[in-house]
Amino acid sequence: MEFEETFSFEEFEAIRKYLDLIGAIVVVLDLKGDVRFINSFGCSLLEYDSNEVIGRNWFENFIPSRIRRELKEVFSKIISTNEGVKKYHYYESPILTKSGKERAIAWNNILIESRDGQIFGTLSTGIDITERVKVDAMEKAFEEKLSILNYFASTLNTAKSLDEVYEYVVDGLTKALGFEYAMFLVIEKDRLKVKAYRGLKPIIKEMSLNSQKGLTVKAVKTLRTVISNDTWNDKDYIEGVKGVRSELSTPVIVNDTVYGVIDVQSRKVNAFSNEDVKLVEILATHTSTAISNIERQTSLEKQYRQLSSLMQFSIEIIRTSDVRARLQKVVEAIESLGWRRVVLSLRDENLEIRSPEDIITAGLSEDERRFLWENRTSGKIWRERLSAKFNRYKVGQFYYIPYEDQLAQEYFTGSVLDSRLSPEETVDWHPQDLLYAPLTLLDGRIVGILSVDDPVDGKRPTKYSLAPLELFLNYAAIAIENAQLIQKLEAAQKRLKEYADELEVKVNERTKELVEAQEKLLRSERLATIGEVAASVGHDLRNPLQVILYECFALENLLENISREYDSKSGAMVKQHLQRIREQINYMNKIVSDLQDYGRKITIKTIKVDLNNFVKNVLSTIKVPENIKVIVDVPIEFTLDIDPEMMKRVFVNIITNAIQAMPEGGTLTIYSRVEGDKKAVYFRDTGVGIPKENLDKIFHPLFTTKAKGTGLGLAVCKRIVEAHEGTIEVESEVGKGTVFKIKVPIKS
Ligand code: ADP
Ligand code: MG
Repeated sequence: MEFEETFSFEEFEAIRKYLDLIGAIVVVLDLKGDVRFINSFGCSLLEYDSNEVIGRNWFENFIPSRIRRELKEVFSKIISTNEGVKKYHYYESPILTKSGKERAIAWNNILIESRDGQIFGTLSTGIDITERVKVDAMEKAFEEKLSILNYFASTLNTAKSLDEVYEYVVDGLTKALGFEYAMFLVIEKDRLKVKAYRGLKPIIKEMSLNSQKGLTVKAVKTLRTVISNDTWNDKDYIEGVKGVRSELSTPVIVNDTVYGVIDVQSRKVNAFSNEDVKLVEILATHTSTAISNIERQTSLEKQYRQLSSLMQFSIEIIRTSDVRARLQKVVEAIESLGWRRVVLSLRDENLEIRSPEDIITAGLSEDERRFLWENRTSGKIWRERLSAKFNRYKVGQFYYIPYEDQLAQEYFTGSVLDSRLSPEETVDWHPQDLLYAPLTLLDGRIVGILSVDDPVDGKRPTKYSLAPLELFLNYAAIAIENAQLIQKLEAAQKRLKEYADELEVKVNERTKELVEAQEKLLRSERLATIGEVAASVGHDLRNPLQVILYECFALENLLENISREYDSKSGAMVKQHLQRIREQINYMNKIVSDLQDYGRKITIKTIKVDLNNFVKNVLSTIKVPENIKVIVDVPIEFTLDIDPEMMKRVFVNIITNAIQAMPEGGTLTIYSRVEGDKKAVYFRDTGVGIPKENLDKIFHPLFTTKAKGTGLGLAVCKRIVEAHEGTIEVESEVGKGTVFKIKVPIKS
């Protein structure tokens, strides 16, 4: 922009008389800086008369000393160089008034030339911009502070705890925003408490919200910023910090409820501008955001902690098998969810506690446990407390009964432990509030009561905060249900076992009875058989007896004759008679011993017997006719484990039968074999054989095909062999012969 750099003296002279009329300061300085002209506006601005100004040095007298040097240099540049004139054509600098104040002036500087063309000095026109500068400065400061605030807001959001937020806020207020004193107050129940401060230590650290006075309380109640510009003349003011003359309180509102107050103070009167109010209010908004973030984060962390402890405990609960140990884990889990005292009482059908062990607790001392047992609330009262009457206190499965409630007081009993929470630790929980829930099984039976007390956070429960407790409540119910099932199962098992044992005893008894009965039956059958036999035996015995009788008669006669004449003929006859008597007696003897054997209970005592010797011994007692050949084909040292007395009868019987089956003569072969774990003896004859239809009858008692047979022989054989745990078998072909086979076990 082109502008006039110089101004001639003539031109100045021409306008001089008008210069007093304009509302701007006009000053002419000579080259020394002395004032050669000043208009009346300039004088009034400086608060001097013109004669007090004219002739005096401008810089020494009307410029604030702090910039005097700087302005002198500027002046010398203006008067000495063209660049200087250009550069400082427009220039802002203050002037110093007679009363010592400064006024900001925007100067327009040009040079004045004298008539001879020499530079005479400067002509400066100045506009008073004091007010504008002030506003500018304030705006600038506000903007600066605003940007500090915004920066500060991001710092606030890094706070990890509420206390950190409080500290950051008072720091920001004093260090960043430049307030003298700052406090952060938080509402706790019905009190407003100082949580952080900077500057002087507050005399009062907390006050009641019911107080009629106090700026901070007023800010809470009105939800607005409250200012006191002169505390000494403010009836609402309470001196919280010594020597304070101005105070500004702004409420901090978090999630629509007032949380606390930001308070700044100053020793100056009228210390706070509208901009300060704005700044503090903006800070309050930032603070509110930070607090609600931390609260959300804290509740998230709490949830996370609860969730992980929930899982931890779930595992532990599953691991423990005993029901009381399980319930102990349950109450510990609930304790960890934020309750200082947890009591779980197992109840019978009348909701009474049966024994002290049925009170399972966490967080209680031994004394307290004893107190609970000795002062236990009756089942009747619990019935009432769990009745529909209390339905309106239900929060999920729980009942929450605030102490102040009328109904609660009615059912209140003395059996309540003193709370360990101090009033300061509670928020809205009353130490005598009741919180309990029934332990209900699937079938609706109530088997216990859970009551919790002393919340760590001091807060009343909500459906939300009780949700994890409900989970454990159900765990406890399931544990009890399971335990009861197991108990029932064990009882059933025990009964079953007793039953089985009883049954076994009975079975044994019955078996014994049966065996005895069977033995009796067998014996009686045998006796009956013998009875039957007796008839025929009687008949059979009568014949030989009559023969013996007759023979005896004959012998008598003979002996009479012998007394007269004894000769060899009659001697031979006596022998013959005696022989017949012996035969008959043998026969009778056999019948009797067969009968005895059959009627007798057989007992066996086995020993090792050499079969060759044994057969030889048996054959020596049997009269074998001439026309029958007996072959014994048994390896030497072949032994049998038998009772020789008993087995001898078997051999005698079988051999006798074989002989009787070969009236025309033949061969009896006796041989032996080892068959598996048994030894067999075979008796093969070449006799008449047994017809097929008789084969399964020959072992029956009384079966005989012989005129003088008893039919007891093989029946006795079978009993004796079976008493040896052996078998007797027969194979036969009519006309060819018969093989009997006896098999007995080998004993080690
Ligand atoms: P008893 O010899 O008194 O008849 P046993 O019980 O000894 O009684 O024999 C029963 C029947 O078995 C005999 O009557 C006979 O018919 C038949 N028996 C036994 N052994 C032989 C044999 N070796 N050969 C043919 N028949 C036999
Ligand atoms: Mg016989």
